[in-house]
Amino acid sequence: MMEIPLWVARHEAGHAVAAEYLGARCREVRIGRQNGMTRVRFSGRLDPIVAGIIACAGHAANVKWDRRSKATLPTDDFNITRMLGFRGRSLRTIALHARGVVDEIAPAVQLVARRLKERRKMNRRELRRLMREAGVEPGSGN
Ligand SMILES: [Zn+2]
Repeated sequence: MMEIPLWVARHEAGHAVAAEYLGARCREVRIGRQNGMTRVRFSGRLDPIVAGIIACAGHAANVKWDRRSKATLPTDDFNITRMLGFRGRSLRTIALHARGVVDEIAPAVQLVARRLKERRKMNRRELRRLMREAGVEPGSGN
């Protein structure tokens, strides 16, 4: 089986850990060779700022560890931020917040990424367990 690049695992780990940290629910993370998929659910009314930070957190993890440029988000994530109403300065601001959040949750992103690279799939229960193991309490960034 082909190996999963760590940057792909880190990207999805960034979305997933940011979601649980900020009080949203990450239902599942799946990962393939070129991309991954993180399913997030919001309880109650969707907060566009929180949703925007979660949408930018995958790329923020790649900016932090994989030398990706801050300037361009991947298309899928960019489209989500557009649907949420962010563009231009407000998009740069939300991306800046996402990088700050990723700094706060860094040990958990690293741990979750390593596990995702091995297993390719993670449910919410294991995600939250790994976050606590890394010293990041789910919901504490809420
Ligand atoms: Zn993404």
